[in-house]
Amino acid sequence: MPEELLFPGDFIVNAEEFLPGMGTYVEEGKVYAAEVGTAKKDLDKREVSVESKSRTPTMQKRGLEVMGIVAKTSEKAAFVDLFPFESDKHRFAPIQASTVLRVNNIRSGFVKDLRDEFKIGDIVRVKILEAEPQNVVVSTEGPNLGVIKAFCVKCRTPLDKDGKDLVCPACGWKDHRHMAKDYREAQA
Ligand SMILES: [Zn+2]
Repeated sequence: MPEELLFPGDFIVNAEEFLPGMGTYVEEGKVYAAEVGTAKKDLDKREVSVESKSRTPTMQKRGLEVMGIVAKTSEKAAFVDLFPFESDKHRFAPIQASTVLRVNNIRSGFVKDLRDEFKIGDIVRVKILEAEPQNVVVSTEGPNLGVIKAFCVKCRTPLDKDGKDLVCPACGWKDHRHMAKDYREAQA
């Protein structure tokens, strides 16, 4: 069977059969194409994706704000696992590329060690700066970007905002993050 060229909005498969991968979205239990391209089914992961004909898939557009969880940190950079996200009524699968937040993209001004501002497990809102297929670079420079939920390192309770810092309501542990202005008010 020749590969069928799909257009955004074309039905691919039911969501019970295959998980939505890159270049797709789900609506009412059905997976649709979000890109112009051809469907690729990964039978091991039971995932269907649309291999885009354009170089940069629409879902990893520059300037887009997305949410994720800090998966790994070092002095100079963090890796962020992005959540599936919504645009209008379409729910997109996560960007499947390594998403990097570098220490110089945290905020204006010098940050010596990224780990002073972010910890593994933090829920963050980030903005996409560069969107290459295998390399997505994000930033948290902006009032609505940064940590929107952080957890106590001692007891894992979500931390409460305490002025410019954070405090654990359970054990009193004080901590600090690069917070978004709507810390703990956003849905995460
Ligand atoms: Zn605590």
